[in-house]
Amino acid sequence: MKLPVYNCFNPILREKSQKVEVFDEKLKNFAMNMLETMYAADGIGLAGNQVGDKRSIFVVDEFSGDASKKNPMIFVNPNITSFSDEESDYREGCLSIPRYYEYVTRPEMIEIEYQDLDGKNQKIEASDLLARVIQHENDHLNGILFFDKISSMKRTFAQGKLRKIEKNNFEIHYDMIDKAGNYIKAVE
Ligand code: ZN
Repeated sequence: MKLPVYNCFNPILREKSQKVEVFDEKLKNFAMNMLETMYAADGIGLAGNQVGDKRSIFVVDEFSGDASKKNPMIFVNPNITSFSDEESDYREGCLSIPRYYEYVTRPEMIEIEYQDLDGKNQKIEASDLLARVIQHENDHLNGILFFDKISSMKRTFAQGKLRKIEKNNFEIHYDMIDKAGNYIKAVE
């Protein structure tokens, strides 16, 4: 089941996530719904609060656009334990900030500890795009959006675009929830 995506002006995007304590079928179903929502929206990552859930969970698939390479990954209660000194720039987008893209500087490599859907502890190293999308989604769980990380000058230039999102003055191919909690139907 696809879920509506909350836009960046809805207060839930600024809330810190809460630890997942119960690992049951409902959690698995929710994670599957998150993946379905992410794929349908052509995203490569999606965090719980982006679909209105405060639990500490995000899903990622860096190969989202390539059916032959799909590699869904689910992170519960994640904790990034180390960041490389090397950084890189990449133009990021966000399903909660439709049609807005900007370069963000982030560490190139990370190590992350998390739990899987069975509550088992896991740990991986990630680099390049995977490291980037994990950091972007992990930021969501801390109430941080990627435009918080760009220069204030770039943010000033983006004001017009952001105001359009705030006023729902855009067309997008997935359902959204706006600043005030209204349901905004996708454009077919
Ligand atoms: Zn995002």
